[in-house]
Amino acid sequence: MRLYNSLTREKDLFVPREEGKVSMYTCGPTVYHFAHIGNLRSYIMEDILEKYLRYVGYDVTRVMNITDVGHLTSDADTGEDKMLKGAKREHKTVMEIAKFYTDAFFSDCKKLNIKTPDVVEPATACIPEFIEMIEALLEKGYAYEAGGNIYFDTSKLEKYYVFNDFTEEDLDVGVRDTVEADTNKRNKADFVLWFTKSKFDDQELKWDSPFGVGYPGWHIECSCIARKHLGEYLDIHCGGIDNAFPHHTNEIAQSEAAFGHEWCNYWFHVHHLNTAGGKMSKSKGEFLTVSLLEERGYDPLVYRMFCLGSHYRKNLVFSWENLENAKIAYNKLVAKIASLKANDNDEISEQALSAGREIFKNALDNDLNTSLAVTALYDVLKLKTNDKTKLQLIAEFDTVLGLDLISHANELSAAEDNGAESAEDSELVAYIKERIEARASAKRAKNFAEADAIRAELLEKGITLVDKREGTEFIINK
Ligand code: AMP
Ligand code: ZN
Repeated sequence: MRLYNSLTREKDLFVPREEGKVSMYTCGPTVYHFAHIGNLRSYIMEDILEKYLRYVGYDVTRVMNITDVGHLTSDADTGEDKMLKGAKREHKTVMEIAKFYTDAFFSDCKKLNIKTPDVVEPATACIPEFIEMIEALLEKGYAYEAGGNIYFDTSKLEKYYVFNDFTEEDLDVGVRDTVEADTNKRNKADFVLWFTKSKFDDQELKWDSPFGVGYPGWHIECSCIARKHLGEYLDIHCGGIDNAFPHHTNEIAQSEAAFGHEWCNYWFHVHHLNTAGGKMSKSKGEFLTVSLLEERGYDPLVYRMFCLGSHYRKNLVFSWENLENAKIAYNKLVAKIASLKANDNDEISEQALSAGREIFKNALDNDLNTSLAVTALYDVLKLKTNDKTKLQLIAEFDTVLGLDLISHANELSAAEDNGAESAEDSELVAYIKERIEARASAKRAKNFAEADAIRAELLEKGITLVDKREGTEFIINK
């Protein structure tokens, strides 16, 4: 498989460190609010990557953090703590906010068929690990204390800007004019490893540490949580493109300084979902969540289909019209699959299986081209083979694509059968009513033989007539 690697800026051949095994780390959500569907685009594409690696036979271990402390409103250590901001907004404690939005995140993931990583660890559960790594960095001379905080000294590195697309000026992006520059930093790119109360007096969560009572910076959590569960080497690190700088750049700086060797070989970055008005945000404009999609009548999997239709390294523009098109495409695909009828006596064609698999793998082996992988489903439908083989291929591909195609197709077939039954029922009812009317008019004409003949005719068909004052009722004996 070739995968674009932000470090080399090439589509690199993917070769894990240990044959057959992949260690994968994903930056998790900051749980101060609902995830918007932009955040979830990143998690959908990372989910496809994980599932595809499993599909081709790798033994994948994937770890994700939950950011419940330390992430400030600017990614570069300025502004308020996002968690504290969320707690104040809702008059709750930080831990209550964290619990609520962590649950909400996983509930959204479930609806979108995003598998929960093997290990999920909140930052607040790893304070001893953070302290340990910060101490190591201080000892090795990569960190310093200033104004009560501990900073990483970026000037000690041979190369700090490892993702070549970024420069020092990018540090100013997202920093509002009203926010004062941190004068404790020796170099502009230096970042906080540990805050003490000197920075935020109203910080709710604080821990004792050798550096004073305080709390960790955002970046250190990912290095430590990855190390705790995956060791000192990573195969793939994932996140949205906004995380590449400064967050991932800082993760690399501190991990490689602490370990004394290179850390992660492949960096997988998902580009943004935007609205026509620009960057999607939790504070501006319509707050697009999975619940909102559902309120508007969209199955969350239609949104997954929408995401699969575009390459993860392209910005994707969301509009209700685009989502509607994805819904139409999804329903058509499901209807086509529903029309396949597997016959128990059919034999699976091994030749067709390998032909189908080759198309699918070619798509995903080429830097995870999901839209071509979806096209592979249509190619399967056109294969010259029996429906049983086609259904097997579709089910197999869907272990990666996660669109619940077979179960939705089954539901559609069942609904159609029910529909057919109710159409049959209504024809029967119309017939009975017509016969009851004919019997009533025979009675009015005193033609009782004819009336009795109609009653007998219906009884033979399992329909009993009951004469009541208000009229004749009928019972269908099933
Ligand atoms: P956060 O909860 O802000 O820490 O972000 C969670 C994930 O969503 C990170 O991997 C971000 O890089 C990613 N992300 C943020 N905004 C977007 C967006 N508009 N489109 C896609 N991914 C995003
Ligand atoms: Zn991270």
